[in-house]
Amino acid sequence: MSDEQIRVRFAPSPTGFLHIGGARTALFNYLYARHNNGVMVLRIEDTDSERSTDEYIEAIIDGMKWLGLDWDEGPFRQTERSSIYEEYAKKLLDRGEAYFCYCSAEELEAKRQKAQSEKRPYKYDGKCRNIQNGGEPILDSGRHPVIRFKMPIDGQTVIEDLIKKKVIFENKVLDDFIIVRSDGMPTYNFVVVVDDIDMGITHIIRGDDHLNNTPKQVRLYMAFGKTPPVFAHLSMILGADKTRLSKRHGATSVQAYRDMGYLPEALINYLARLGWSYKDQEVFTKGELIEKFTLESVGSSSAVFNPEKLLWLNSEYIKKSNPKALIPDVIGFLIKENIVKAGYSPDSDWLAKAIITLQERSRTLIELARSLKYYINDDIDIDEKAGAKYINVNTHQYLIAVKDGIDTMEVISEKAIEQLFFSLMERFGVKLGQIAQPVRVALTGNTVSPGIFEVIDIIGKEKTLRRLNKAINSVI
Ligand code: GLU
Repeated sequence: MSDEQIRVRFAPSPTGFLHIGGARTALFNYLYARHNNGVMVLRIEDTDSERSTDEYIEAIIDGMKWLGLDWDEGPFRQTERSSIYEEYAKKLLDRGEAYFCYCSAEELEAKRQKAQSEKRPYKYDGKCRNIQNGGEPILDSGRHPVIRFKMPIDGQTVIEDLIKKKVIFENKVLDDFIIVRSDGMPTYNFVVVVDDIDMGITHIIRGDDHLNNTPKQVRLYMAFGKTPPVFAHLSMILGADKTRLSKRHGATSVQAYRDMGYLPEALINYLARLGWSYKDQEVFTKGELIEKFTLESVGSSSAVFNPEKLLWLNSEYIKKSNPKALIPDVIGFLIKENIVKAGYSPDSDWLAKAIITLQERSRTLIELARSLKYYINDDIDIDEKAGAKYINVNTHQYLIAVKDGIDTMEVISEKAIEQLFFSLMERFGVKLGQIAQPVRVALTGNTVSPGIFEVIDIIGKEKTLRRLNKAINSVI
C-alpha cells in the first residue's frame, strides 16, 4: 500500500441535513486526504428512494461548501450507477458466490416467528443455496427472486480497524444477506462495496454504526477477489447525558449553526476535536489541522458534544476575523434581524470600524448584528431601568455639556471626544463613568457598550446630537 495514492470518500445518504456527526466524518476524510495528498470522493448514497430527496442532496453539498470541505471527484449518485451494480451482481452469480432465492416473504416470516418462539436468533436457513440454474433465475418459478450472498458457514471474519483495533466476528451468526431485492434494487452493503472497489477507495473512515456491516462487506471484497480497504470507524458523538447525539440535545445540523451566526472555521475546529487531539492544543487553523491530522491520534472512546465550548471557539474566531471579511455575513444577519432592509450597502470602512468595536464582545454573528443596531438605526429603545437610573435631573447637566461640546466640534474624532470628556470631568469634579453612563444610555439604549469615545465617533455627530437632545428633552 505504501506507494499507493490514498483515496477516501464521504458517502452521505441524503435522508436529512448535514448533521454534526456527518460533518465530522466528512472532515476526517477531508483532513486525511489533504494530509496525505490523496483524493477525496463525494458519493451520494441515494438508493433509499423513499427517504432520499434532492433537497437534502443540495443541503449536504451546501453544508460541505460552507465548511470549506472540498472534494476532488463526484458527487456521484448511486441511483445513476445501476448498470454497474448489475454487472457486479452477475459476477458474483457467475462465480457461485451468490444465488437466487425464491423464498416468499410469508415463508420467511413464519420461520422468523418460529425462531422467536423457540428463543433462537433468526438467520436465513440457506434453503435456496443449492438451487442451480447456471447462474440464471428460474423464470417459471412464478416468483421474482432476490439475490443472496453466500456467507461462509463457519470460521471468523477479522477486521483490523485503525481505531477499534482487532474486531472479530463469528461467521456463523451472519446470514446469507440479500444483495439485490426482488424489484431489482441492490442493497446498501452490496452497493457500498461495489462503489468502493470501482472508485479505488483505499481507506474507509466512517461512523462506528457501520462496524457491524463491515464483516459482510469484507466478505464481499473477498468474493470479488479484492483486498479490503483499511477501515477506521469513528466512535459516535454523544450528548451531555451520554446518549447518542440527537435533536433532543439541541441544534445538530450544520445549517442550524450557520443560521445561529457561527463561523465555519469555528465549527471545523470544534468538529476536529471531537475524537481527535494534538497535545493540549485547542485552536487550530485549517492548515494546521491538515498538517497535524493522523488517524493514529483519533481516540477510540466517544466524544461528548459540548455546545459551550463551540460557542467559546466561535467567539475566539470572531475576535480574530478580519472585520471586512465578516461584512457580507453580518449584513445578511442585519437583514434577517430586521435591522436594515435588503439591499443595504453601507460604507464598508465605516461598517468595519463599527464591527471592530464589537468583535471582542460578540459570541455569534447574530449577537454582533444585534449590537450594531444602535450604530445603524436612529430609533433606539432605551431600556427602562437604565433610562430611569441614568437619564434624570442629576445627569441632565452632563448630557447638556456633552451635547454642547460635540456641537462646537467641526469634525468629531475619538481623540477630540476623549478631550471633551476629560475637560468635563474636571469641570464637574466627577469620574468618567458619571458622565459616560448617561451618554451611553442615551446613545445605545443600554449600560453596556464598547468604549464611549469610539461609540460616539462611529455613530457620528448628527445622530449623536439628535439622540442626546432627545434624552435631554425627556427630562422634565
Ligand atoms: N451512506 C452511509 C451513511 O450515510 C455511509 C456508508 C459508508 O460510509 O459506508 O450512513
